[in-house]
Amino acid sequence: MKWEDNVRKVVPYVAGEQPHKRGMIKLNTNECPYPPAPGVAKLAAQMDCGALRLYPDSAAAPLVDALAEYYGVKPEQVFVGVGSDDVLAMAFLTFFNSDKPILFPDVTYSFYDVWAKLYRIPYQTCPLDDEWHIRPQDYKQPNGGVIFPNPNAPTGVLESLDTVEEIIGANQDAVVIVDEAYVDFGGVSALPLVGKYENLLVVQTFSKSRAMAGARIGFCIGNEKLIRYLNDVKFSFNSYTMNYPSQVLGVEALKDDAYFKEITGKIVWTRERVKKELRRLGFTFPDSKANFIFASHEKVSAEELFKALRAADIYVRYWNKPRIGNSLRITVGTEEEMDRLLLFLEKYLADYNKA
Ligand code: PMP
Repeated sequence: MKWEDNVRKVVPYVAGEQPHKRGMIKLNTNECPYPPAPGVAKLAAQMDCGALRLYPDSAAAPLVDALAEYYGVKPEQVFVGVGSDDVLAMAFLTFFNSDKPILFPDVTYSFYDVWAKLYRIPYQTCPLDDEWHIRPQDYKQPNGGVIFPNPNAPTGVLESLDTVEEIIGANQDAVVIVDEAYVDFGGVSALPLVGKYENLLVVQTFSKSRAMAGARIGFCIGNEKLIRYLNDVKFSFNSYTMNYPSQVLGVEALKDDAYFKEITGKIVWTRERVKKELRRLGFTFPDSKANFIFASHEKVSAEELFKALRAADIYVRYWNKPRIGNSLRITVGTEEEMDRLLLFLEKYLADYNKA
């Protein structure tokens, strides 16, 4: 059909599946296994639904103000979106507008190349080294911008603040986006560098460490000028992005820092325990500082383990892709969930060795 010649054809990003099976163990999309802060449930129960009659605050000002106070920056330095995916999509559209390619790692969040193709932004991937680390020298070539997660996904590998600063400093003619979706599980944030480099945008989310993936709250912090440009694009796209309940529940979540530290601390503790157990079972993995572990087994293929786990209603993430096709990304769940995973693996591998 002729009209099809004019369609913008894209190969979309594929998110992890969202099954709703009783008794399943869901370790495939890096959600938090604990509920949001208790104040969030309390406020949700008392929510004034009359407010739903009106459009929400288009700039999500109460949430922007609360984030500015929490992170010690000006409200003019904060932008919020419908999950960090929305923030990142807006940032790609706003800042990556050059004929030169943007740069990101070859193994990284698989949404980056989707946005680049959607917006027709030229891009080039830079191979991670054999230990899954970024090679800063790769980011010292002409480019139209740089983006990488820290810790990286799906590896969980954290780059030092020195490495991050080296990349930002070498690219002051372009915008450098540091995607810190997983920074709260033992990472080191680049936020202290925002005052020093006007080309730095730090993106974070409530989806993982604040247990609110369903509320879709993401945000970024940067120089006031960057945020102004981002708002100009956002308000040219859709004024009312974040809904009213998410705005007020997001503010509430920020109030309970003790709970935030408690659940992120528990996840880190479980992660370190599971690393030891997985090693004992013959798995190897880069040293994750995120809420997941990217593991390969010495004998059994990742694909086989993925299928066996899935058949037992234990969901992990697997990609049949170059370099990562023999690894499973396993989200850190509760202690009990991880015990059930480990028990399954122990038995499966014992049977495998017998066969
Ligand atoms: N960045 C990275 C590296 C991620 O893994 C994810 C989760 N898929 C996101 C951003 C987006 O998360 P959200 O939109 O839920 O904030």
